[in-house]
Amino acid sequence: MTVVGVLALQGDFEAHAAALARLGVDARPVRTAAEVRASDGLVLPGGESTTMWKLMEGTGVAEAIVDVARRGDPVFATCAGVILASRRIEGPSRDGLGLLAATAVRNAYGRQLDSAVVSLTDLDRDALGAAPLEAVFIRAPKLADLGPNVEVLARRDGEPVLVREGNLVAATFHPELAADPRVAALAFAAHPALR
Ligand code: GLN
Repeated sequence: MTVVGVLALQGDFEAHAAALARLGVDARPVRTAAEVRASDGLVLPGGESTTMWKLMEGTGVAEAIVDVARRGDPVFATCAGVILASRRIEGPSRDGLGLLAATAVRNAYGRQLDSAVVSLTDLDRDALGAAPLEAVFIRAPKLADLGPNVEVLARRDGEPVLVREGNLVAATFHPELAADPRVAALAFAAHPALR
């Protein structure tokens, strides 16, 4: 794996590109189906998933993302990106790309809690180690109906917020907005700069 494509239709793709650059990973913005397919790994960033769906309509980008995931290249999804990647979406209901066997319930934390910086301590220690993980939640979805192959790597109040299914790592929060590189390093563990 060499070049990671960061889906740059909308949202915080620049923060992802900067965070990966700090890790020594060559990350480039991708906007077309051809650019997506030419990537060795993909980031589906946070932002507004409804806008992302609109911008992808009729472009072949959604199909290209599915192709990259199916061929086994790493995909790292955060927040709105997790909503895109999920099999089902609620709020409103629709199908997602089906890369993650889960239902993403949009904006599920309610007004008081919808954005927060939380220190996650309920972590899979094999994957992440023991140190608490600072997690920035911004109008985050919740994940429900997890399939049998979905590993939960971190929980907030008992609910899954960081999961892995094969080559996909999905965080309902924003690791790209925190200094801690552990989540991105997990997503792109096969990258020469992170091995
Ligand atoms: N609430 C947004 C959505 O439903 C996601 C928020 C985010 O990516 N920070 O698409």
